[in-house]
Amino acid sequence: MSWKIGDYLYASSAREAMALLRGGNGRGLLVAGGTDLLQSRPACDFIVDISGAGLDEIIRTPEGGLRLGAGATLQSIATADPVLDYAGGAIAAAAQRCGNRPVRSVATLGGNLCSALPSADMAPVLLALEAEVRCSDGEQEESLPLRAFFTGPRRTVLGERILLSVDLPARHARAVTTSRKLARTAEDISLVHVAVSLTLEGRLLRAARIGLGAVAPLPLRAEQAEAHLAGMSLDEREGPRRLGEAAGLAAQQASPISDHRGSGEYRRAMVAVLCRRLLSELLGMRIVPPPESPAV
Ligand SMILES: Cc1cc2nc3c(=O)[nH]c(=O)nc-3n(C[C@H](O)[C@H](O)[C@H](O)COP(=O)(O)OP(=O)(O)OC[C@H]3O[C@@H](n4cnc5c(N)ncnc54)[C@H](O)[C@@H]3O)c2cc1C
Repeated sequence: MSWKIGDYLYASSAREAMALLRGGNGRGLLVAGGTDLLQSRPACDFIVDISGAGLDEIIRTPEGGLRLGAGATLQSIATADPVLDYAGGAIAAAAQRCGNRPVRSVATLGGNLCSALPSADMAPVLLALEAEVRCSDGEQEESLPLRAFFTGPRRTVLGERILLSVDLPARHARAVTTSRKLARTAEDISLVHVAVSLTLEGRLLRAARIGLGAVAPLPLRAEQAEAHLAGMSLDEREGPRRLGEAAGLAAQQASPISDHRGSGEYRRAMVAVLCRRLLSELLGMRIVPPPESPAV
């Protein structure tokens, strides 16, 4: 099917992008890497290209946090030193698992989050690390937690705003963090994606944050599982069982669909399995699954 776009405009700043969007004829669409255009016809009259809008910075903040520009490509996020240094390189590793090298070379972090697919591969680890998103209407800037950003499949709170950056807090710079993507092939989108980030004080698990992707209408935090783990001692007798129960709670919070990639039942079971595996790897403990759970 052929389609026509009125104008293809280039913005040299976020402010200019918003001005072009407002001043254009009909409905405009921001385009960063443009990889979504390869997959579906955009519902717009004109395009505002923001690849030259100066949004690609990746910096360590003076406080020890991390700022990832919305226009940073997934390849640059996978390889930049500040990202490799933050939370054990967990964000870099997640970026490395998105698509293939040609896609990662143009696809941006902002595009990944703003496309708001339940399977967006950058979401789980960023949720687990309590990222904030910074956005602007061209005049005012606002920051909000990433967990409040997604409102449904392909929907976000952005409205007529542009995403400027994703900001990671200094307090999680040393958080013990990892994520795992389960997919049919190395280049396919996620069937299930789980990220776990832990705040440990010696043998005390002060807090656990668990991000889930591809198992609900939007990427989400497994709050019940997190609450079950908060404050537990790694030496307590029932610890291995408690970790297994938390994985089960994460699976219960998922509401996966069935499609050609896998059944909802399989996806839910895999949430528990991946949670147990990641917790076990991070804590170096054998985890006891509840009796009815699938084996790790
Ligand atoms: C072959 C292939 C494989 C893929 N594999 C994966 C995968 O494994 N995992 C995965 O998660 N994704 C995958 N994708 C999807 C896609 O590549 C990613 O989601 C990518 O990060 C999108 O970034 P982009 O810059 O190309 O977005 P674009 O196509 O430029 O934009 C996507 C959407 O985000 C909006 N947008 C972009 N930037 C901003 C901004 N700064 N502010 C506001 N709105 C903005 C656009 O308006 C548009 O609606 C794949 C795509 C292809 C083609």
